[in-house]
Amino acid sequence: MKPFLLLILALTLTACGSGSAGEGGVLLHQQYTVQMKEDFAKVEECTQLKGEPFETLHIEVHPYDFKCQWGSGFCSGEFREPNRIDISLTMSARHEFIHKILFDNTGDSDPDHKSPLFKQCQFVQ
Ligand SMILES: [Zn+2]
Repeated sequence: MKPFLLLILALTLTACGSGSAGEGGVLLHQQYTVQMKEDFAKVEECTQLKGEPFETLHIEVHPYDFKCQWGSGFCSGEFREPNRIDISLTMSARHEFIHKILFDNTGDSDPDHKSPLFKQCQFVQ
């Protein structure tokens, strides 16, 4: 066997690491969606209200606070009727879920946060 072929064989047999390299790009870990769905269920349980199924939500995740129609004009979370939620922080999702569930049950998402459910349920564990 020629030395060149021996070198290739040696490299093939001694390659370190396993698995394949990931493709480029930014991906949300699969657990992210699982966690969101669990948080939605916890908010439903806390509010004792049932929203439309989690799967009907359109959730968009932003890297930073994003332009919105409230307060300073930048938000870490926003619910837009009937089923869109934008968030930049995971913890904002529960707050927006409350808006969504209130909207599903009363037709009013309570943008002024008058419902006591915001205090009671957005940080529920
Ligand atoms: Zn709000």
